[in-house]
Amino acid sequence: MGANASQLEKEIGHDQFPSNEHYFGLVNFGNTCYCNSVLQALYFCKPFREKVLDYKAKNKRTKETLLTCLADLFYNIATQKKKTGTIAPKKFIARLRKENEVFDNYMQQDAHEFLNYLLNTIADILQAEKQQGNAKVRTTNQNGDQQQTSKPEPTWVHDIFQGTLTNETRCLNCETVSSKDEDFLDLSVDVNQNTSITHCLRGFSNTETLCSEHKYYCENCCSKQEAQKRMRVKKLPMILALHLKRFKYMEQQNRHTKLSYRVVFPLELRLFNTSDDAYNPDRLYDLVAVVIHCGSGPNRGHYISIVKSHGLWLLFDDDIVDKIDASAIEDFYGLTSDTQKTSESGYILFYQSKE
Ligand SMILES: [Zn+2]
Repeated sequence: MGANASQLEKEIGHDQFPSNEHYFGLVNFGNTCYCNSVLQALYFCKPFREKVLDYKAKNKRTKETLLTCLADLFYNIATQKKKTGTIAPKKFIARLRKENEVFDNYMQQDAHEFLNYLLNTIADILQAEKQQGNAKVRTTNQNGDQQQTSKPEPTWVHDIFQGTLTNETRCLNCETVSSKDEDFLDLSVDVNQNTSITHCLRGFSNTETLCSEHKYYCENCCSKQEAQKRMRVKKLPMILALHLKRFKYMEQQNRHTKLSYRVVFPLELRLFNTSDDAYNPDRLYDLVAVVIHCGSGPNRGHYISIVKSHGLWLLFDDDIVDKIDASAIEDFYGLTSDTQKTSESGYILFYQSKE
């Protein structure tokens, strides 16, 4: 590494620096830290990065999309000669502002909203490209069956991030259970003071009784009946993107306030199988990235991210990259005091399945 080694390279040390890995900060284009922090977290979700780079290798440019801009950015980072430095995600930000008016300004945005938009947009692009490909096959193959594709096929975004929730309602009169499945790319959970991720997830499965004016129409009884309702995770994804609902709308103030509650998130998370089918065993997850919100509200403050890479923990604060100790992660759990609204606290957690 010699005389040109960066401060980060010195911190990590010559022997420890992972070969073929690049740690590049991202330039802020006026409150774009919500974007930078999510992009860094996604870059270090290895299965996602691999698919994006794969897309770049296989797709010889047709027209610019948010996905081609993301692929160019990831490729740019991955192929740098230097190990560390700074990159300006100029083209990606320009494309994002062009595509969605929500992000077409210089105000702070919600990182979770951006993540959700990005994943859904990529999935849409991939599905549209697949359909175009299928249409071409159809016209060349005259004897081929014309298949009606009502539900688009899952893409690699779904393979990586999609899980399934199920809503179950049990009629207390006839005991008939009806259930409805719902897919998700990220999971939003409520937060409480001094809790853990496991506790937040358990809150999901809490049973709610529907009675009096909230009675449920049972198809079997053909009448309104009291019922028990619960929601649970039916299928866990490969990478679980967990969004902590830290921004709560306060009606009397007509604005969102931040819940800086202390929510402990472990480096290793065991998620229990909550469905009845046996082929969905418990799964063990590793924390690979966290988007952290610093400040007091959704439209002010700052976003940074921490990521795990080759056993090292790194902190990305726009163009600055630092090595941190795993023991420093607990500083981002939140605050035990309810009076302080401003904090540096975990906002989106990325857990990757070990198997
Ligand atoms: Zn019934």
